[in-house]
Amino acid sequence: MLKRGDVVKLVRVVTETSETEIGCDECFERLDSFAEAELSGVKASAVMPLVGDHLDKCEDCRSKLEALLRALRGT
Ligand SMILES: [Zn+2]
Repeated sequence: MLKRGDVVKLVRVVTETSETEIGCDECFERLDSFAEAELSGVKASAVMPLVGDHLDKCEDCRSKLEALLRALRGT
């Protein structure tokens, strides 16, 4: 598991390289970082607003995130 500081650093890099809107592919690429941030207690949709935005609109990616969160929690 990444340390909180590492997650924030990682998230910042990801956010800086993003455009104004992302698609499912880009969302999926960032889903790992998003889930890690969520699990570290960071508000992932605040630090990765584009992913959060896409997840709001896309049920497909939301269910992928939920599966990922379950896997990371080890349940
Ligand atoms: Zn999507």
